[in-house]
Amino acid sequence: MDIEAFRKAGYQAIDRICDYYASLQERPVVSQVQPGYLLDALPSSAPEHGEQFDLIADDFQKLILPGITHWQHPNFFAYFPTASTFEGLLGDLYSSSVANPTFSWLASPACTELEQVVMDWSAKLFGLGDQFQNHSGVGGGVIQTTASEGLIVICVAARARYLRQNPDAKLEDLVIYTTTQTHSLGVKAGLVLGLQVRALEVKKENEYGLRGEDLRAALEEDHARGKRPFIVVATVGTTNSGAIDYLEEIGEVLKAYPSIWYHVDAAWAGVALACPEFRPLEKLDAINQYAESFCTNFHKWGLVNFDASGLWVRNRRDLIDALDVTPEYLRTKQHDAGLVVDYRNWHLGLGRRFRSLKIWFVLRSYGVEGFQAHIRKGVELNKHFVSLVRASPDFELVTTPSLALSVFRLRLPSTSTLSPDSAEGLAALNDLNRALNLRLSVDNDKIFITQTMLNGMICLRFAIGAQRTEKEHVDRAWDLIKQCATEMVGEWTK
Ligand code: PLP
Repeated sequence: MDIEAFRKAGYQAIDRICDYYASLQERPVVSQVQPGYLLDALPSSAPEHGEQFDLIADDFQKLILPGITHWQHPNFFAYFPTASTFEGLLGDLYSSSVANPTFSWLASPACTELEQVVMDWSAKLFGLGDQFQNHSGVGGGVIQTTASEGLIVICVAARARYLRQNPDAKLEDLVIYTTTQTHSLGVKAGLVLGLQVRALEVKKENEYGLRGEDLRAALEEDHARGKRPFIVVATVGTTNSGAIDYLEEIGEVLKAYPSIWYHVDAAWAGVALACPEFRPLEKLDAINQYAESFCTNFHKWGLVNFDASGLWVRNRRDLIDALDVTPEYLRTKQHDAGLVVDYRNWHLGLGRRFRSLKIWFVLRSYGVEGFQAHIRKGVELNKHFVSLVRASPDFELVTTPSLALSVFRLRLPSTSTLSPDSAEGLAALNDLNRALNLRLSVDNDKIFITQTMLNGMICLRFAIGAQRTEKEHVDRAWDLIKQCATEMVGEWTK
């Protein structure tokens, strides 16, 4: 493709993307295709001779789009949002246009320096102290692909530091501490690194947050049997219910264990720190005082197109000491002179995408005010959803609503003689809510919500935050939830 053909195809692509967004509401939220639909439709080998690009572009419309679940759809309430923006999309486009792997400062100085700048802008936006900012020269921020990859990086750094400080420790005794509510990223890190993971129990009465006393008891128990916990992964905003661990208590307990790393995973909820009113709830002071690393995903609720996961550390040397590999062909005089950051030593791969550009576009276009308004809108819409659930005798909230996430379930029908606290009652409730979720999200193309399990209970999660979701979408989703529940209960009681 030459420049003029690209110009034409590019204009067409932008036109089609605009049409896609203009018609998003009319599309089914969840893709309706059957497994294997694309495998059957595409040839088994690449074409021998190059094809015309307009045919290829048409196949995106014809073959690919039907197999897409529309995460940007205003009726997408599943998992957590990926609130993308046109600014982010354009950032990706421009970044692709200069296609470069930006692994060292010299490989493209703008990429490194823009990353340093936007990570400091975001640290300030989220209220993270100077100690986490690049300008400190000690701590700093780096963009990772995902929160899961970021945690692997942190575990590598924490493990290296722990082994340096405790030369008698054996690898097989090291343990990653998580809780039963930690995202699967904890288990993944253990699998990748070949390390044990211990998921500490958290209690319903603590709203599924980890308390300091439970952490202390586990540390004492593990040390007594020769285990070496070397990192604690705390969460602000768990995937199941938006729970927040008791960060200050954890920090106080860890004072007695200075070699144990303290990581805070706020992949979803962290961006809400942009609003001062949510900082006490998310325990920002404790993060600033105790945490050694903090992660939040711009690519969830933070208006930046996937992927862009922010990771800040209190001491960049911990990353570099663990990850710096500099063969002769990667050496530069700027790095040798200590003048620049080489981000390849702050993540797993060598090459890295130029992701700071899309964050820069978004932060400049929205400004702090616009970013805060987006977060506040999600929280307000969730308050509205909560009021609808509370007003219904047929449903109940299962946990205290957290920011823009509600966890709720259908109650047993009033005709039922079962007690919801009995084993039979719980089993019936679980069947009912599983069936409701299926009816809402699989047999229905209007909205997408997901279920989870809390304390043996199947519950439904309603996660708000897609950029185009408005009150009318929440209202319509609620009407549909009620309607499906009524139909189902009718069938159930027949
Ligand atoms: N942590 C929490 C609390 C999450 O909810 C999620 C994803 O939903 C993750 C981590 C994983 O994020 P990523 O896909 O960026 O690895």
